[in-house]
Amino acid sequence: MRAMSANRTGRKLRVAVIGAGMSGILCGIRLRQEGYDDIAIYEKGDTLGGTWHWNRYPGLSCDIPSHVYSYSFALNPEWSRKYSGGEEIRAYFQRIADDYGVTPLIRFNAEVTACTFRDGRWHLEIADGRTDEADVVLCATGILHHPRMPEIEGLESFAGAAFHSACWPGGLSLKGKRVGIVGTGSTAVQIVSDIVDEVAHLDLFQRSAQWIWPESNAAYSSDEKARFRDDPAGLRHVHDRMRDMIAARFSNALVDADSEAMGQIELECRRHLEETVRDPELRRRLTPDYRAGCKRLIMSDSFYQAMQRPNANLTTEAIARIEAAGVRTADGALHELDVLVLATGFNAHQMMRPMRVSGRGGVTLEQAWADSVQAYLSISIPEFPNFFMFMGPQSPVGNFSLIEVAELEFDYILQLMNLVRDGACREVSASAPAMTDFADRVRAAMKSTIWVTGCTSWYLDGHGLPIGWPWTVEDFAQAMQAPALEDFQLVG
Ligand code: NAP
Repeated sequence: MRAMSANRTGRKLRVAVIGAGMSGILCGIRLRQEGYDDIAIYEKGDTLGGTWHWNRYPGLSCDIPSHVYSYSFALNPEWSRKYSGGEEIRAYFQRIADDYGVTPLIRFNAEVTACTFRDGRWHLEIADGRTDEADVVLCATGILHHPRMPEIEGLESFAGAAFHSACWPGGLSLKGKRVGIVGTGSTAVQIVSDIVDEVAHLDLFQRSAQWIWPESNAAYSSDEKARFRDDPAGLRHVHDRMRDMIAARFSNALVDADSEAMGQIELECRRHLEETVRDPELRRRLTPDYRAGCKRLIMSDSFYQAMQRPNANLTTEAIARIEAAGVRTADGALHELDVLVLATGFNAHQMMRPMRVSGRGGVTLEQAWADSVQAYLSISIPEFPNFFMFMGPQSPVGNFSLIEVAELEFDYILQLMNLVRDGACREVSASAPAMTDFADRVRAAMKSTIWVTGCTSWYLDGHGLPIGWPWTVEDFAQAMQAPALEDFQLVG
């Protein structure tokens, strides 16, 4: 739908970016490169890095190789390991934000609580009472951001330290302590492997077993790093090779549950379990009752070993309640603990909420998403003009680097912003029919993916519809090449 203005004089746009994580920093860099110079980046935390700022748990790393989990324009020869640790990743984002002049644009401790579209502009309200106005909002608030606390009776009565994995207390020593961990996702697996040799006793409370891909994490030698430093083309080749391997072996396999590559993943995960866990009873309890890849595939070659240490215990009895002394399971046993870690995941479908967002005519995000969380191509919501999402619904491309996803999204969004800047229109947002058509295509394509083959996971919404991209990596890149303008409502 087009209602184009003849005004092609060009406008100076003020851009508000919400969030100073990986996507928000990218926005700052790329906007400046593209000549946008009126930019404010709002960050609710006191430092940048997003998920790498909030998550500080022991063993934290990224399950995408560091040479792939890097901005394409800022490959890093200094990565210490194939999968570098969380603090090193956060330091990388800090350095890049400093080097590219983004840090001064960030307003820290500034949580945006409301965005209202009025008189052709977005009006922002900040938690401390400040306000701002912008022509364009880039919503870079991340997807795994809101900790999901388990509803377990008596949680508040625990006498020791109990906290969500994303709220790890600084300075906490686990040496000689009895530690319980609830959950068996990527987070719990990383924590278990890292702390098992330090703690006196480790109790892992498992509700569902997980398939685990055996992935080692070798350190790069100083010679290798020197080679990467001296040979940028060689470093790019390493990036490209790893990236292509992930796309072919994992990401594209997950969207075709019957593919040969998917079968290989299942075989490899099963072989890993059978060859690594010696005790048949423990092996049985660690064997999932759903297909590999249905939940987010976990990467680790140390978790099974950790669970076979004499001080580690796998508890598969349901948790009945939490008491002052520890966790009481349904069989009546009390698991006495000093520390309780809730590695219970995130409310991925909350997206940027509780921020209140109101679009054209006062329509609220809650109204737009009353049935399900959706955005055209994961980026634009009808009646929310000049408001664009990073890592929106359908953004997570299965087990792929979200940095490449964000870079592709930026280049797509930039083309829409430039329409407004160059005077082709004043407001641009996906049209309602295009949104409906996209949602229908997503629903149809999801039927072939591994995510709907019978498990629970953070991917699924209340209707059982996954939040991921149901096509290949190449399809995503293709979709992000250029907006099909007939799918947008251009006003003014
Ligand atoms: P998650 O995958 O959602 O796992 C949460 C775990 O908590 C599950 O095992 C779940 O059991 C369990 N759980 C939740 N509520 C429970 C309750 N009331 N009682 C008992 N168990 C309960 O969360 P996550 O491990 O934090 O990982 C989330 C995502 O973050 C990952 O999939 C990944 O995308 C990302 N992540 C990435 C990395 C990385 O390396 N890049 C590291 C950490 C996290 P059920 O399975 O039975 O629901």
